[in-house]
Amino acid sequence: MAPWLSAAWSQIELALAGATRVQSWCFVYPSGLPINQLTDRFVARLVCLAPQGADSCGTCASCQMNHESTHPDVTFIGPEGAAGMIKVGPIRDAVKLAYMTPSLGAARVFRVVGADAMNEESSNALLKVIEEPPQGSFFVLETSSPGRLLPTLVSRLRMISVKPPESEELAQYAHSISVDPMRLRRAELLLGEPLAPEQNAERFALAEQVLTAMQAVRGGQDPEVAAKAFVKQDAETVLITLSRVIEACIRGPHDPLAAEILRLDGPRPPDAMLFQLHDRVQEVRRQAVQRIHVNVPMALGMLFSGWAFIWSKVLR
Ligand SMILES: [Zn+2]
Repeated sequence: MAPWLSAAWSQIELALAGATRVQSWCFVYPSGLPINQLTDRFVARLVCLAPQGADSCGTCASCQMNHESTHPDVTFIGPEGAAGMIKVGPIRDAVKLAYMTPSLGAARVFRVVGADAMNEESSNALLKVIEEPPQGSFFVLETSSPGRLLPTLVSRLRMISVKPPESEELAQYAHSISVDPMRLRRAELLLGEPLAPEQNAERFALAEQVLTAMQAVRGGQDPEVAAKAFVKQDAETVLITLSRVIEACIRGPHDPLAAEILRLDGPRPPDAMLFQLHDRVQEVRRQAVQRIHVNVPMALGMLFSGWAFIWSKVLR
């Protein structure tokens, strides 16, 4: 388990050893640093038929099924569809299941990832069952934005917060899992997700491609051609990368390491132009998130052209 998760695990151990059985939990993680290792370990402990203290035995039938992600008593709920919402349907299904006896005996676990994506209706449906959870049913929510959860829901949950790792801690961890610490730094700069190279390699590769294209456009490549390469890719990742590279440009002299890593050192476009382009990227992102009709090829073409334009103002 990553070292910065251990303090949170200690809190969980303490709660498990306590007299009252806590059935509704919310794990709060630092943005960009998913905590699968922590939640996996906890869920394994809950469903295990012969737990060893705060940990699962790892060998019982229940542990084996859980390990193979085929456990009939573990239900995953997460954001769905283009809007990325958790609608009331899956929550209602979960509530029905929660009143049924677990198939394997130890517990039923409902894992709600990205819990802040629940709308009011789903939050209220979940709240009802959490107010008086059926015996043997556990709810484990995960979010990096606890402020977006319904306050009445939060008041019923045992909140466990994971503190963000120190950069030294992150670098050591990178070393321990044989990932180049520089890749973590790049992932943080490009996506705000330092663990992307390990946990979401595809997303990280796309972000690197966007940076390469931005550099090519800056060097004179046709921006429309550069934009076309991303039309069928995940627009959110492309837009986040565009936005974060521009932010690094704006920080420029104040963040020389970032400028060096992203090869953005040297003369820069005027701040006002960078801010304007940044606003345009954010506007497209906002429209995409709110599902306002966005013509992605056109929007990307426009943004890459904007990037080409502001660099054409820099004396080389
Ligand atoms: Zn077990």
